[in-house]
Amino acid sequence: MPIWNARIERMPRAELEQLQLERLQATLNRIWDSVPFYRRRFEETGLMPEHIRSLDDVRLLPLTVKEDLRAGYPYDLFALPLREVVRIHASSGTTGQPTVVGYTKNDLRNWSELVARVLSAGGATKDDVIQISFSYGLLTDAFGFHQGAEEIGASVIPVSAGAPEQQLKIMRDFRSTALVGTPTDALRIAEALEEQEIPRTSLHLRWGMFGSAPWSENVRTRIESLLGISATDNYAISEVMGPGVSGECEENKGGLHINEDHFLCEVIDPESEEVLPPGEPGELVITTLTKEALPILRYRTRDLTSIDARPCPCGRTLARMARVSSRTDDMLIIGGVKLFPAQIEQVLTEVEGVEPHYRVIVDEVGGVDRVEVQVEVSGALLTGDVGRLLKMENLLRRRLQADLGLSAELKLVESRTIGPVEHPSQRIVDRRRAEGGERSKRE
Ligand code: ZN
Repeated sequence: MPIWNARIERMPRAELEQLQLERLQATLNRIWDSVPFYRRRFEETGLMPEHIRSLDDVRLLPLTVKEDLRAGYPYDLFALPLREVVRIHASSGTTGQPTVVGYTKNDLRNWSELVARVLSAGGATKDDVIQISFSYGLLTDAFGFHQGAEEIGASVIPVSAGAPEQQLKIMRDFRSTALVGTPTDALRIAEALEEQEIPRTSLHLRWGMFGSAPWSENVRTRIESLLGISATDNYAISEVMGPGVSGECEENKGGLHINEDHFLCEVIDPESEEVLPPGEPGELVITTLTKEALPILRYRTRDLTSIDARPCPCGRTLARMARVSSRTDDMLIIGGVKLFPAQIEQVLTEVEGVEPHYRVIVDEVGGVDRVEVQVEVSGALLTGDVGRLLKMENLLRRRLQADLGLSAELKLVESRTIGPVEHPSQRIVDRRRAEGGERSKRE
């Protein structure tokens, strides 16, 4: 597969790091002059931009959290007046004040370039017909991918979010060769195809790129086999840009290449905030290196990953981050055991006949946590004999106990009882909180 910007994506690391340092210093000078929020933070600690002399010094800089952006709603953290800003996006704000992000013309140009790199790494060429099923609106995904796909010269179909039947009709009639959307969209479309017994050969689909919420390897396998495509992951975060931060190469699918000439990434221990060495898992922290309208220093993403700077067989020298399967705020503590929904999904879907749709209900009875795991199994299994079902329940119970230390009651349910969700955290129903208080949906 061709590399979109070989000069940068294959740049020797020493040269890349020099470029990062120069851009970091330029960013700090701009921030010092034009963002009072950061100027105050610097002054509180006696830090000056010229104190940052190497990339390692980045750890001296203050961390930025989502609450800082909310407190500065809508424009306080912008480094430029609105007359320089040509686009404004925002998060959905379902759990509080939305976070607002702005882009200058240069920011938009860079954004298109970075998404073009990610799309090319995933398999896109100008011959593709790319169907976008992300919702067009305030969120960054649809517009980000749209402009990146146009940059490549592909034909873009801005379907936006819609029922799987509508997506399928357009996919067949317009001969879409690629689908870009959430993994949930892809699963719903794949399952509609299966349900309506539409032959896969009536589609022209070749590849897909999915993101915006974590999805497991098992979900990838299911999407790839049902739709007959190659599917890659990418990482998007609206506070620093949207899509275009990093993406998998189709050759390797072994981590997401970070566009390091625009983003300086670190991994920290979420509790101590110490920077962790390469390869160690922790929370991803991102500093923007070129953003003009809204430069951000050391943004705590709450996403858990690790970074690997070793060379990749695809030839790119850009470091890779591990696929994000969990966020720091998805963590559940059950009977003293720390767990993430993604770990439960991993254990369940390793067993044949189990579908990647499940629900975990946590209750407290007499001061003790009680867990019920409901999981979809294939129809054939449910109509078979009871002995097989019991065996399956036992197997899943033992696996959860052995692999995660989780004691749970198992309940097998029919296909399509639970179905896909937008985010793994929605699979958890935690009834231990205040009366009737189920986990609030994350933004
Ligand atoms: Zn690669």
